[in-house]
Amino acid sequence: MGLRGDVKVLELAGRRIPRGKSLDVQLPLSQTYSGANVRIPVRVWRGERPGPAVFVTGAIHGDEINGAGIVREIIVGAPFQIVAGTLVLAPVVNMFGFERHSRYLPDRRDLNRHFPGSQSGSPASRLAHAVFNELVARCDYGIDLHSAAVRRTNFPGVRADLLRPEARRIAFAFGCELVVNGKGPKGSLRRAACRKAAPRSSSRPARSGRSSRAWSRSACAACATR
Ligand SMILES: [Zn+2]
Repeated sequence: MGLRGDVKVLELAGRRIPRGKSLDVQLPLSQTYSGANVRIPVRVWRGERPGPAVFVTGAIHGDEINGAGIVREIIVGAPFQIVAGTLVLAPVVNMFGFERHSRYLPDRRDLNRHFPGSQSGSPASRLAHAVFNELVARCDYGIDLHSAAVRRTNFPGVRADLLRPEARRIAFAFGCELVVNGKGPKGSLRRAACRKAAPRSSSRPARSGRSSRAWSRSACAACATR
């Protein structure tokens, strides 16, 4: 089994995206209480060569708009070429909260406490399930961008489960002064993504010097998350 990003044609939101192409898609995730479909914009960039798929997500907490700005900068900033692999960019995941300048969903639930979600749970759980399956689970690596909560200031940093060798490697690759070790709160995207990466149901790290294939292929870091 290769990397998830190795597929020749990536299918997302009913669109087929071959290697070497980039595409903007509208990913259907949920419905409003009035029944209107809710879609989020996603930019997919694919290199010519096989390689890992990496997601970058912003505004899972709808009022943490810095992440959305960072992803936007990647999209509209200085052009660059992706030689190998796939980059999946989702500037605003929690569209409900983002439009209302709120951390939460309309029912006051915190999306980042409901991953990996379920098909038949609360609106937060169903939204988390859609995000997790359509976006997160299809990538090999992920960066979930956060900023401080209201009336708080966070020192810029990276948070990751440093017991996982691959998560540790990419966490320190940022060159950030502050790297915080932790699995992430229960229900957070970081915790759920790392758990999915674990071989079977084990949560133990691979023995030193013997990284398992699963460990070496999936990692999730979060920037200044809470
Ligand atoms: Zn946050």
